[in-house]
Amino acid sequence: MSGQTPQFGDLSIGKAAADEFVRLPRYPALFEIRAARMKTLAAANPAAGFLGLMVRVFSAQADASLLAGEVVPPSAEAIARAREHAMPPIATDSWVPTATYRAALRFIAANISRDGLPQATIDVLAGLGEAPDEHLDNLARAHLESAIPPHWQGEAIFAVAALQVEFARIASLLPKEAIKPLDAPGLCPCCGSPPVAGVVVADHAFGRRFLSCGLCSTSWHYVRVACITCGTEKDVAYQEIEGGDGVAKCESCDDCRTYSKIFYQQKNMAVEALCDDLATLSLDLMVNNAGWKRHAPNPFVPVI
Ligand SMILES: [Zn+2]
Ligand SMILES: [Zn+2]
Repeated sequence: MSGQTPQFGDLSIGKAAADEFVRLPRYPALFEIRAARMKTLAAANPAAGFLGLMVRVFSAQADASLLAGEVVPPSAEAIARAREHAMPPIATDSWVPTATYRAALRFIAANISRDGLPQATIDVLAGLGEAPDEHLDNLARAHLESAIPPHWQGEAIFAVAALQVEFARIASLLPKEAIKPLDAPGLCPCCGSPPVAGVVVADHAFGRRFLSCGLCSTSWHYVRVACITCGTEKDVAYQEIEGGDGVAKCESCDDCRTYSKIFYQQKNMAVEALCDDLATLSLDLMVNNAGWKRHAPNPFVPVI
């Protein structure tokens, strides 16, 4: 293991911070925050075209999140029942496509600025605008079941964006104190999806790692120096781009041969798990080429 022993254990962390398990999504502000962060990251990135599209997607999500529409959070009884069975309260496999999801997807497809986009993307957006409910629902189900056929991948990005709006909104309404770790602590305790990455925070919970859900945007505490896939603490190492700024590292595990990314707020307070993950695909390539497999895809990059 190269040089990532926890350095903060001897600092006095308040009990509230030490006990903090979950941070529910800041709905709807999170989408504006992402659009701003992505804009900064895109400016100096070789993948500026793709990241620029993501700026537009996040901005459209921010606007879609202001649309009126009904979401029904689970009742206290349903949350208690889920806990009894070690299930997440808004499990994706029990989600039923809703009118608010479809409205968000159609809104996003209609409102993304076409200026300078490739014609293929413009055609995908136009197609989504005219697609029947059934097709939009099938896109959502295919994403949630990790079974998107190759010819749907162009559309799936926008379906993911609409699903994120819906799930973040419901997650933001959950009672924080009722959210507990799952038996698989590397999965989101609200919806059961895998995280996109982790952030070692530098706020009141200084030095603690929070994983960030790729679907509902909940963050939850996960101990440092432990593989998020298999939990081992023994065979974990850290890798980064040589000469980099230390903001992004990969935590690789020699036990299960997977890796996940960690971003360090201490190096840059603006880091945001989803955006910084998308802006560091060169790190994925490096670690993939060295023989580790990513723990789970970024929902906007299903092929990595
Ligand atoms: Zn989640
Ligand atoms: Zn592992």
